[in-house]
Amino acid sequence: MRILQTLIFSFLLVASSAQAQTYPAYTEVYVNDFADLLPPDVESDIRARLKELREKRDIEFTVVTIHSMTDYGHEGPIEPFATGLFNDWGVGNADRNDGVMMLVAVRDRHMRIEVGSGYGFQKDLAMKEIIEGAILPQFKKDNYAEGISRGVDEVIHDLTGYWPGEYDATKTERAFNAIQRFLDWLGAWIYAILAPFLLIPIRLYFRWKRNKPRHCLRDGTKMIRLDEDADDARLNTGQIMEETLKSVDYDVWQCPRCDHLKIETYRSWFTSYGACPQCNFRTVEADTTVLRSATKSSEGLKRIDYHCLHCGHEYSEERSIPRITESSSSSGSFGGGSSSGGGASGSW
Ligand SMILES: [Zn+2]
Ligand SMILES: [Zn+2]
Repeated sequence: MRILQTLIFSFLLVASSAQAQTYPAYTEVYVNDFADLLPPDVESDIRARLKELREKRDIEFTVVTIHSMTDYGHEGPIEPFATGLFNDWGVGNADRNDGVMMLVAVRDRHMRIEVGSGYGFQKDLAMKEIIEGAILPQFKKDNYAEGISRGVDEVIHDLTGYWPGEYDATKTERAFNAIQRFLDWLGAWIYAILAPFLLIPIRLYFRWKRNKPRHCLRDGTKMIRLDEDADDARLNTGQIMEETLKSVDYDVWQCPRCDHLKIETYRSWFTSYGACPQCNFRTVEADTTVLRSATKSSEGLKRIDYHCLHCGHEYSEERSIPRITESSSSSGSFGGGSSSGGGASGSW
């Protein structure tokens, strides 16, 4: 029995290690947005800041986003994966080992800033503070581009003592920029505090409009709104699917005297579901596959597969991906640096 257990156990070990760990290949040294979290303008902005850092301070800092570590055969915490990826790519100068990698595994909801072995554990606390102070609050609101962008600035400031664009600035210019940043920050806070108050009357109006009593068109009797369970019996399968997906919400009003029904439609403002060309319900989900990546010389191609969760209708379309422009492309390679696991991680 003992032998059998050992055999099974060692078989499982072999089986799990057989599912080999791989790493994505980098297409450039600044930004590899495999999970597509960055809009093109933010991406080129971040690239410019990382390029500047490399040119002015010779520090290799790279940003990587992936969907999930399981795509590369990795199960478990992000730390060994980040160290492995860092060393696989060889981020940073090979003698100084001063590279930095920001890794975001969006579906795993884990991220890490991995630093080269040259920093020892010196940067762990600072990176932790950047992750918790600047990045995670944005990630929690699904503002990935904003979180990554702010995190990049904070890391650069921590490494060099300068904000991007200020390496050659005079003391006066830097002081002026600091005031500007403070005012931006203050404005953002004031906006964040005031915006909900400005929205209150609008919300109240819509709530009043939705809840105000209805009267039957036939006999003028005050109608009753059915609760979510009772209204399902009055909705068709497409409408029920829309309610399940939260793409559309329905209110069913019923006249208690003549049973006359009034169904009101409230389309969700924020939904990823589109309208089905066959059944017309907002129950279509889309999935994008890159067929051919764009290069500097030719445009790429992607296929979007649509699938209706109500009627099962499926259709696809192909769209071109714009050619990578000269200014946004930047190949090159890393300096062969390594990490011994320094840095910090966060989850949201
Ligand atoms: Zn009635
Ligand atoms: Zn459909």
